Amino acid sequence: MTNVVLVTGGTGLVGKAIEHIINTEPEGSRFGKKPGEKWIFASSSEGDLRDPTQTKKLYEKYQPTHVIHLAALVGGLFKNMKYKLTFLRDNILINDNVLHVAYEHKTSKVISCLSTCVFPDRVEYPLDETKIHSGPPHESNFGYAHAKRMVDVQNHAYKEEFGCNFTSAIPTNIFGPYDNFDLEDSHVIPGLIHKCYLAKQNKTSFVVAGTGKPLRQFIFSYDLAKLFIWMLREYDDVEPVILSVGEEEEVSIKEVADAIVKAVGFEGDYKFDTTRADGQFRKPASNKKLLTLMGGFEFTPFTEALDLTVKWFLENYKNGAR
Ligand code: NDP
Repeated sequence: MTNVVLVTGGTGLVGKAIEHIINTEPEGSRFGKKPGEKWIFASSSEGDLRDPTQTKKLYEKYQPTHVIHLAALVGGLFKNMKYKLTFLRDNILINDNVLHVAYEHKTSKVISCLSTCVFPDRVEYPLDETKIHSGPPHESNFGYAHAKRMVDVQNHAYKEEFGCNFTSAIPTNIFGPYDNFDLEDSHVIPGLIHKCYLAKQNKTSFVVAGTGKPLRQFIFSYDLAKLFIWMLREYDDVEPVILSVGEEEEVSIKEVADAIVKAVGFEGDYKFDTTRADGQFRKPASNKKLLTLMGGFEFTPFTEALDLTVKWFLENYKNGAR
């Protein structure tokens, strides 16, 4: 039987990265397309997954044997704080429809996407796969976090009642080509790339919010894409897997900003606005389970991945990068 892999949210940062890897890795290799395999990258214009009828139509159209479920209402801190009910409800509806229709269609496997920001606010670090439900999430994103946590609950319930092969992946902060580079509502790396580019163009200062000291784990979207493909082919357990670089690969916001300044070629005044909040100092997540299961993985060095992302932004900015 031909495998048909449907990627929901196929037009976003992660979906585009999976499409890139599937189309560029050698056919038949560990992360490349398998002979006869068909990949579908769906956007919301193919069906609004908040709606059960549109979700059913999407499954009827493509008859997927496997689903990588990335579609979600995603946003930065401000949007999460302002629209808590919308984040809760839209994501609950999307996830419930995708999983239930997959069950009805006897889909062989579904991998859904959580995030390390759904973990409890007060928790012992490093984060690992056993700690998702061990306390309330941070107040600022509780709508998004509870909706995402519920996917893990649903996966267990579908397995226990119906024997479904549903699981989830938990990435840390993602960056790469096709990210949302909006100045107001983006994650730290794409936001700073855009700001630095404008500072260079307008000959103004490049100002980074906060002290630059907090540490974060960033995963390059093309690396994450390979990890999703590995999960699809080689991981068959309901328990989630954290998809991340190791704790020893944490980088500070200052290191991120330094690398962006270099990659953009910015030579003007560059400073930190220490009156702005820093957020949590660090929230390390362990990738031990991933590396043990995979038997090792070579992550792209951070500066190399950042250079590639900046290059993509510079080439696409005029064409309307988000
Ligand atoms: P993007 O915001 O880049 O893309 C979101 C995707 O979801 C788009 O393809 C969008 O379609 C689709 N989508 C949104 N709403 C609907 C809907 N109602 N019906 C159908 N499709 C919809 O997301 P990312 O690629 O950044 O994120 C992918 C996954 O990874 C998400 O589940 C997210 O929670 C998770 N994640 C992301 C992190 C990050 O740093 N970005 C960190 C950790 C986890 P369209 O293009 O048509 O709008």
